[in-house]
Amino acid sequence: MGIIKDSDFGIRDKRGHWSPFKKLTINPEYLLPFHFSKFLFKFIKDKFIFGFMGYIFIAMPILCWLFLSPDLDTVKNFEIGWILFIFIRNLAIILIFFGFFHLRLYTFNTQGNEFKYNPKPLDKNNKKFFFNNQLIDNLFYTLCWGVPIWTFYEVLTLWAYANNFIHYITWEEAPIYCLIVFLLVTTFQGAQFYFVHRLLHWKPLYKYVHAVHHRNVNTGPFSGLSFHPIEHLLFFSGIFLFWIIPSNPIIAMWYLFFSALSPIGGHSGYEKMIFKNGKSMPSGDYNHYLHHKYFECNYAGAGVSILDEIFGTFHDGSDGATKKIMARIKDKAHYL
Ligand SMILES: [Zn+2]
Ligand SMILES: [Zn+2]
Repeated sequence: MGIIKDSDFGIRDKRGHWSPFKKLTINPEYLLPFHFSKFLFKFIKDKFIFGFMGYIFIAMPILCWLFLSPDLDTVKNFEIGWILFIFIRNLAIILIFFGFFHLRLYTFNTQGNEFKYNPKPLDKNNKKFFFNNQLIDNLFYTLCWGVPIWTFYEVLTLWAYANNFIHYITWEEAPIYCLIVFLLVTTFQGAQFYFVHRLLHWKPLYKYVHAVHHRNVNTGPFSGLSFHPIEHLLFFSGIFLFWIIPSNPIIAMWYLFFSALSPIGGHSGYEKMIFKNGKSMPSGDYNHYLHHKYFECNYAGAGVSILDEIFGTFHDGSDGATKKIMARIKDKAHYL
């Protein structure tokens, strides 16, 4: 089997930037205009079949809850031992998961620039980053702020479940309800991210908070959670929904894990990862790549890009959409 080439799937412009032939679709599909049976079929399909990476996202909180979490009796009181255990577990997950993409695609550069959106390597001599180094900057914000704040929300939520401060409903009590809530977590997270993200592009918040993330125009895997701590607090704050609605720790952890791990797609910088046997897997999200390139578009995750369509901020990758966005950027010089 021959190795697949990015030229079969897209085109490089004069500056070497790659873009896919296929324009981005608005998700969920068949909602605008609404076609009930097609919408339901596609929506359910997307909720159960979402590729290798999606299955890893889903398996992670379930396995961690079953094998790598303290039991609820232990978490009734805040104690350094179990809190540290969760922190180290989350730190290891981020290092292994994001690290796998970084090592393969950047350190060992196993596929060169094949399927890389932006032909340039990560910055090693740019004053806007800590120590002039993009990777060090990204690692600092991810490991020193991202993982602790994710852990903070997880610890608080487990403690609240253990003390019955929030309504705990088990899978045995209401399996269908739990399954529906579980399946809607990613849609909810996408929608919450959209509104938080719009807020972060409000000038004062952008300047002091979100600009940290947008230092990364040519993103790498560790750019995904490279946020100012205020952005981390807002980013993971959707956890409070699970304090309000009846739910259980697996569902709450699914929200937190999905929030922590899913940014890999939007920031890996590569549309596909190629393996030696000629197989490949999707590893990018062109939708969010365009947000880093043009700022004023695609605030939502790819799964709920319908929100961008409704609010007039959707960029499908076409030249026409780029022209519209560039006109808007000119009006907002503070982004540049
Ligand atoms: Zn942004
Ligand atoms: Zn981003």
